[in-house]
Amino acid sequence: MSDTKARRAATVQQVSATLRSPAALIAAGLAPPAAVETLAAVAERFAVAVPPALAALIDPADPADPIARQFIPSALELAVAPEELADPIGDDAFSPLKGVVHRYPDRVLLKPVLVCPVYCRFCFRREQVGEGALSPAETLAALSYVAARPELREVILTGGDPLMLAPRRLAALMRGIGAIPHVELVRVHTRLPIAAPERVTPALARALKASGRATWLAVHVNHPRELSVAATAALGRLADAGLPLLSQTVLLKGVNDDAATLEALFRALIRHRVRPYYLHHPDRARGTAHFRPSLAEGRALMRALRGRLSGIAQPTYVLDIPGGAGKVPVGPDYWDETAGQVADRDGNRHRY
Ligand SMILES: *Cc1c(COP(=O)(O)O)cnc(C)c1O
Ligand code: SF4
Repeated sequence: MSDTKARRAATVQQVSATLRSPAALIAAGLAPPAAVETLAAVAERFAVAVPPALAALIDPADPADPIARQFIPSALELAVAPEELADPIGDDAFSPLKGVVHRYPDRVLLKPVLVCPVYCRFCFRREQVGEGALSPAETLAALSYVAARPELREVILTGGDPLMLAPRRLAALMRGIGAIPHVELVRVHTRLPIAAPERVTPALARALKASGRATWLAVHVNHPRELSVAATAALGRLADAGLPLLSQTVLLKGVNDDAATLEALFRALIRHRVRPYYLHHPDRARGTAHFRPSLAEGRALMRALRGRLSGIAQPTYVLDIPGGAGKVPVGPDYWDETAGQVADRDGNRHRY
């Protein structure tokens, strides 16, 4: 056995529970002992959790490992850039009551829990996530808010990760949403099939369908290596249960900011019946500057993918405008209105 393989086997063996502290990460060989004090300072500000399924994907011998970069805390998080915000997409300004964010006329976010199976180091809600759930009274108030507004056609469960709710509680929430006549569909944003695929059980799939409404799942996944055998099996169970699957990917420097990695990710997703939905430009959350490419880089990557990848594997590249103005596509553009010209996928311009 090579040295790397021996170290990796040792790591996987030790990680049988979610790692929640710098000491636990160091004991598992996933962080250097010398970093203990710095990482403690990071962990004090931002929640830490690395579940066994993701710890097993990390190659501790690779200092640029794209899985480790997403989930292992780093001293870089202590550097706050002047443009960074505690509430980067302006959720607070659009929150009429606890657990509800209402920015668009036809749809509303409901955040039943703020816990996640893993804490991503670039999280846009990193100063909210970690602990907390709506009480039964707060959940009822949120549902009453939706029930009182017939223009709301879609309820989007997010958080935190709503699939951290026990299936029984999730089913009760789904039934509450399904009792509102004007709600046409429910969307659930989750990282659970990637971070804890063993928790995607038949009971969970049944709970997801308990509203009786069309229920779409949007799975957060950023790198093709996250699509492990266990994760793809979990996605298969959800697809077989009749749940349409979308993906959301955050464009992250040093993780997936090259065309080959994005191509491999989006190809794998369509193979596993997941339709790439959004490629998010990273939000300006505090201590995340090391993850942010430029918009120009993101647009160039999307242009490169247009030439080489099936149309059903192309997500929309979006920016959530800081402050709360909402999400908009940020290109690339192919049509030049002034010149009356359209560019093809190789950049050649044609009159139209
Ligand atoms: C992102 C977001 C949505 C969902 O937007 P879509 O473009 O429909 O995916 C809805 N409400 C709020 C407040 C959001 O931030
Ligand atoms: S799963 Fe989503 S909400 Fe949870 S830490 Fe990651 S990015 Fe944030």
